[in-house]
Amino acid sequence: MSPLHDMLYEAVLHTASTQAPLNYDSPLALKAFLETCGLGMRKKFGQNFLINPGARKTLLDALELEPGEGVWEIGPGLGAMTWDLLERGAWVKAFEIDPGFIQVLRTFFGTHPRFCLVPGDVLKTWPHAGEEKYLLGNLPYTIGSRVLGTFIEQNRLFTRMVVTVQRELAQRMRATPGSKDYSSFSVLCTSAYTIKPLSILKGSSFYPVPHVESQGLRLDLRTDVDPRRYPACFRPLVRCLFASRRKTIKHNVYGFVASYILTKQGISKDSARITREVLDFCGISGDKRAEVLGLEDFVALAAVLERITNAEL
Ligand code: SAM
Repeated sequence: MSPLHDMLYEAVLHTASTQAPLNYDSPLALKAFLETCGLGMRKKFGQNFLINPGARKTLLDALELEPGEGVWEIGPGLGAMTWDLLERGAWVKAFEIDPGFIQVLRTFFGTHPRFCLVPGDVLKTWPHAGEEKYLLGNLPYTIGSRVLGTFIEQNRLFTRMVVTVQRELAQRMRATPGSKDYSSFSVLCTSAYTIKPLSILKGSSFYPVPHVESQGLRLDLRTDVDPRRYPACFRPLVRCLFASRRKTIKHNVYGFVASYILTKQGISKDSARITREVLDFCGISGDKRAEVLGLEDFVALAAVLERITNAEL
């Protein structure tokens, strides 16, 4: 930034430190603010500000935060939703990668007792960042699926998450057995959370306008199933069954049993018999494909296979 920009930047920020200093609903105001600060928008960070105040309110309401709760905000940008979170009494831990936005956030919220900034790539900074139970994020398109997939796979689970993601990603997350979008990612997401769709957001809800539509989602942690009870088998099995999705369930479960379970135990000859017995026990037809299996089928298979894995054969 030039010295002039530095001065303007300080002036703009100084006058504005107690309440939202920016009209977050106006592309013109946002553009002017960024120009004054010598900042720009970066496509590589998936930067599209949510300029629709109704949509921001819907997302915040859906989080159902009680004052005093801790929340991770992924990608706060210039802080449009951070102000509201703080106003609602939340303790906010904000993960932001853009060095310019980080400066703005520090100036806006740096002295707020309930604000904590975690600068850098959230995919690297999240471990050891804390145990807050809520997550809010208008997730950048560039990392939406990776953030959600990583958190679930690594068992960093939240009581509730409210996110906006690309509409196609929302469809993949919520897909049901037999549909074209159904994948191991759908099973992963629905095994951890019940997923409720919120509004669909057209490109005009964002600045700059993206080429795709987005969808708000509310995800509540499931208590009825917990795949963490089957750490050795549930997720590896789901991946294995979808990796060769054109092959039959029988073929893929056989491969899993042979290579994953029995080899570990130094046995190789019983795979076919065990596969048959496991499928019979779970009441699953081995001649179909993984895409017809529901969550309860994966859980049933994982439960039996986990017992075999842990058994002294
Ligand atoms: N929350 C703001 C809003 O709704 O207007 C901005 C949302 S914008 C879609 C995504 C934000 O995530 C940007 O501020 C971007 O810089 C940030 N971001 C992108 N990749 C990131 C990463 N790997 N780690 C942390 N923040 C990231």
